[in-house]
Amino acid sequence: QAKALGHGLMSAFNQALYRLNHRSLEHDLRGAVAGGQLFLLYQEKRNVESDRMAGVEALIRWQHPTLGLISPADFIPVAEESALIVDIGRWTLDEACRQLRAWADAGGMPLPVAVNLSPRQFLHGDIAGSVREALAAHRLPGHLLELELTESVAVHDVDRAISIMYQLKELGVTLSLDDFGTGFSSLSYLMRLPVDKLKIDRSFIGGLQDSARSRAIVKGVIDISRGLGIHVIAEGVETGAQASRLRELGCVEMQGYFFGRPVPPAQVEQYRAAGASEQSAGAAPAGAGA
Ligand code: C2E
Ligand code: MG
Ligand code: MG
Ligand code: MG
Repeated sequence: QAKALGHGLMSAFNQALYRLNHRSLEHDLRGAVAGGQLFLLYQEKRNVESDRMAGVEALIRWQHPTLGLISPADFIPVAEESALIVDIGRWTLDEACRQLRAWADAGGMPLPVAVNLSPRQFLHGDIAGSVREALAAHRLPGHLLELELTESVAVHDVDRAISIMYQLKELGVTLSLDDFGTGFSSLSYLMRLPVDKLKIDRSFIGGLQDSARSRAIVKGVIDISRGLGIHVIAEGVETGAQASRLRELGCVEMQGYFFGRPVPPAQVEQYRAAGASEQSAGAAPAGAGA
């Protein structure tokens, strides 16, 4: 029952599927990596000050042969319960790095790609070693990779989590605290965890227009992170009104359907190409010869 509560975002269909068919879902998932059924979509992160794409977040999808497209909210928890998440996580990391390399080879300034790490993947084995290998295999500098973690990585053993995070930071990667504000003791973790960036959970963004409380919390989080020298990004921004409200509150990085949905890599290139030509047209002084 407690588990079912943890999957509050599951569709009714997949909740039933999960309960009745958990084992077969797990079985199918086992074949998904090798069977090439997993793929990544990328969602833009926008810097609203420069109006440029600041990076993208890789979001996994599972094209199930008979059930169709399954969302990570439905299968990541299943994978988390077994060691499957480790294989899936390794695949995701490698695939995101492969794509990053392809973008870099295609020319232009490569943008950082963010990859979500699940708690079990983070705590299993030598995650820093796996990240180092993925970077090396695709000849990438660490600063192009961002890792999104949730505070739940620190629930059982905060010192261990901190030590792993320092190992990751040595690789030059950026560490972000995802879904910030939804945990039980976000602020106390923020005090201790060496994160570079935090992502304000979209549950607070939804209330920005109508709820003075949401506004107060979002403002507080932005002010605290500024005081700590931590970057802040708002997720789940769906309207222009939310975006301008956030900007008034001092938030310059944003992500959400208002700026773009998760899309296949080719579409990211198109957005970038469109944005880049606008930018160079606007930014380069005439006759500068650049
Ligand atoms: P997350 O990391 O917090 O990712 C944000 C989720 O919110 C994504 O859902 C994204 O599509 C969705 N989203 C983005 N903008 C908006 C918006 O404006 N409105 C609304 N309503 N939703 C928005 P998605 O892709 O279904 O992923 C759900 C969660 O699954 C992610 O939450 C992340 O925790 C997990 N996940 C996704 N990909 C991976 C992965 O490769 N590995 C692991 N371990 N977890 C992943
Ligand atoms: Mg994320
Ligand atoms: Mg998030
Ligand atoms: Mg989330």
